[in-house]
Amino acid sequence: MKRFQRQTKLLGIKSMKKLSKTKLAIVGVGSIGSILAEILARSGFTKIKIIDRDFVEENNIDNQNFRQSDIGLAKVEAVESRLKEINSKIEISKFATDLNYINIDKILSDSDIIIDATDNIETRMLLNEFCVKNRKPWFYTAVIKSNGFAFGIIPDHACLKCFMKIPENLETCELHGLLMPIAYFLSSKQATNIINYVLYGKRPGFFIADISKSKFFEYIVKKNRKCECCVKKRFEYLTGKKNSQITRICSNTFQINTNRKINFSKFKFKTKSKFLIHINKGKLNITLFKDGRVIVNGAKNEKDALKIALNFVG
Ligand SMILES: [Zn+2]
Repeated sequence: MKRFQRQTKLLGIKSMKKLSKTKLAIVGVGSIGSILAEILARSGFTKIKIIDRDFVEENNIDNQNFRQSDIGLAKVEAVESRLKEINSKIEISKFATDLNYINIDKILSDSDIIIDATDNIETRMLLNEFCVKNRKPWFYTAVIKSNGFAFGIIPDHACLKCFMKIPENLETCELHGLLMPIAYFLSSKQATNIINYVLYGKRPGFFIADISKSKFFEYIVKKNRKCECCVKKRFEYLTGKKNSQITRICSNTFQINTNRKINFSKFKFKTKSKFLIHINKGKLNITLFKDGRVIVNGAKNEKDALKIALNFVG
């Protein structure tokens, strides 16, 4: 094996084969996911599924693993092209969609390991329920300011709901900022956790880092014997009880799921993406996705965004 010589020297050829056969799914390819995907590809994983609902904008270039020429593409298209440049033999399947309770089974059921790189607590709870129900290992990754968090949720052990509640005012990178090196640091730590789990079955603890203060800590999370998810098996996200048609992505950006397929041929716009088209109208930036989603930037509120979206979709 000409490629991966140094890692093969360390881990051995059998281990490298095991990595290359393991089917990964990365949910979210923004700051963490776009970096983590590259590290995993360079570590020898060759079966990677990527799922992301967003597209590349100019303000993503400095803090995510994208280039100037990726602007306008769906993030999954840009990540696929980057990984293929690194290893042309890599098998990638991509989904430019919002993972939800309707499509999760179809998209993730054949994956061995699921990696959360979203910045969305609802999607994390959905993943948690799906993985508990289907006994799949999944890896939680989050960054904000100079802090990073990484955890591995392994069947029969503590799940995310054992200890995490949905906070009323969730901190976001948009409001509180992000120190770029933590995204690389945390992605490297999580990639190591995944390699150690695949090869040796090692269960990671909950890792917390503040890279600015050089503070790093990892603790074992105990299963909550009263957990609604992994003990009582109550799946409120997976059954759609917590599903909403409108999601606020940033302060004035909303995603509306119209639940209809959008026919691009009726629009006279050129696009370089297979999945989406962009429309600028006054102060509004509207992105229509083939899967029926509309992202409205510049709307006053949820009601306004819904009205604008439905106007375009008809
Ligand atoms: Zn639990």
